Amino acid sequence: MKRKNNVNETVNNQPVVDGEEILDGVLRWVDVESPSHDPDAVNHMADHVEEGLAMIGMKVERTLGRDGYGDILKARTPWGEGPGILVLSHIDTVHALGTKDGANPIRREGDKVYGPGIYDMKAGAYIAFYAIRHIIRQGKETPLPLTFMYIPEEEVGSPTSRDMIIEEAKKNKYVLVTEPAREGGKIVTARNGRLEYEISVTGRPSHAGARHMDGRNAIKEMAHQIIKLEGLTDYDRSLTCSVGTITGGTMTNVVPSECSVTVDIRVPDMETAEEVMAIVEGLEPVDPDCSITVTGGVDRPPYDKFEGIAVLFEHAKKVAAKIGFELQDLKTGGGSDGNFTGALGIPTLDGLGADGHGAHSFDEYIYFSSLEERTKLMIGLMNTLE
Ligand SMILES: [Zn+2]
Repeated sequence: MKRKNNVNETVNNQPVVDGEEILDGVLRWVDVESPSHDPDAVNHMADHVEEGLAMIGMKVERTLGRDGYGDILKARTPWGEGPGILVLSHIDTVHALGTKDGANPIRREGDKVYGPGIYDMKAGAYIAFYAIRHIIRQGKETPLPLTFMYIPEEEVGSPTSRDMIIEEAKKNKYVLVTEPAREGGKIVTARNGRLEYEISVTGRPSHAGARHMDGRNAIKEMAHQIIKLEGLTDYDRSLTCSVGTITGGTMTNVVPSECSVTVDIRVPDMETAEEVMAIVEGLEPVDPDCSITVTGGVDRPPYDKFEGIAVLFEHAKKVAAKIGFELQDLKTGGGSDGNFTGALGIPTLDGLGADGHGAHSFDEYIYFSSLEERTKLMIGLMNTLE
C-alpha cells in the first residue's frame, strides 16, 4: 500500500490532527500481530507501544506477564498529581498469527481499512497514543494527569491484569476506554455483566446393554439441566444464558458417569446477577442418584449509566458538538475492561475507539473517515476534563 510520508505534519508550525498520519500509526500497530495466547507476540507489540510512550516523555512502567500472557504497560503523564483520567486500551487481538497474510490482509478499499484487530482495538489504542502525543507536541499539559494502561489479555477476560486495572481505576476520577465505536459511532455508557460457570454431573457407569439399569446416565441428567439453564434466557430483561461447550462419556457402550458444560450468562444489573447466581448455584439433580457441582461466578460485573456517567457523557457530547458531530450512546451486551471500572462507580466512557465493523471476524475493518473525528474527541476530553 502506498502511503504519503507525513509524520509531524504541521500548519503554521502547529501540529494538526491528520487522518493519514493516524492511519499510518494504526497500520504499524496492526502489522504487529498479537494474539492473546502468544505472550512473545503481545510483548513485541508492547515494545512498540512502550517505545512510542517513552519517546514522548511518558513515565512508563512495565509489569512482566504471567500465566502465559504478555506484559502490562502503564504510563503516566509527567505532569499533575492526584486523581486524574485512566485511559484503558488492550493490545491483544483474537486473531492467530498470519491472519494478515491470509484471512484478512491489511488493505485499504475506499473508506474501509482492513486488518486483524484493527477495529478491536488497535485503532482505538493508537488513537489514545496519538492524542497524548498531539497534546505534548503542542507543548500543552492537560488539567488532569493521565494514566494509560495497555492490557495484554483483555480478549480472554483480563485474568492477570484485572486487579491492576481495578487498583488503578480507584485512583482516578474518570476512565476512558478505547474499545470500538458502535453502530455509526455510538459510544458505550452501560454494559451488561457476564457470568461464567462450569457445571459437572456425576452419575454411575455401567454396561450400556447388559447392566443398563445399574447406570446413572450423566449426559441424560445434564440434558435436563441444560434445558433449565437455557430457559433462564429472557430477552425482554436483557438476560441470556448460553450453554457453550459440552463434554461427556467415554465409549458408546458405557452408560456415561461424567458430563460437564460451560455456560455464558449475560445480565443487565447486579440484582439480576444475584437472582441468576442463586438459581445456577442451587441446581438440583432430577435423578437423586446423580450429583451436580457448580464452579464459577461473576466474570465481568454489569454497570448502568449512573449519574456520574450521564454527566460525563453530556460533557463528551458538548466536546463532539464543538468538533462538529453529534455523539450518541448505547448500552451493549458485550463486556470489556470498562465493566470493572464502571461497576466500581467510577464514571466510565467506553467505545471511544474507531468506527468500523466485524470485531472478532475476518471481515474486520475501520472507517478511515472516523479516525480524525475520534482522535479529536479523545484530545478534547483529555483537554477539558477537570
Ligand atoms: Zn476489544
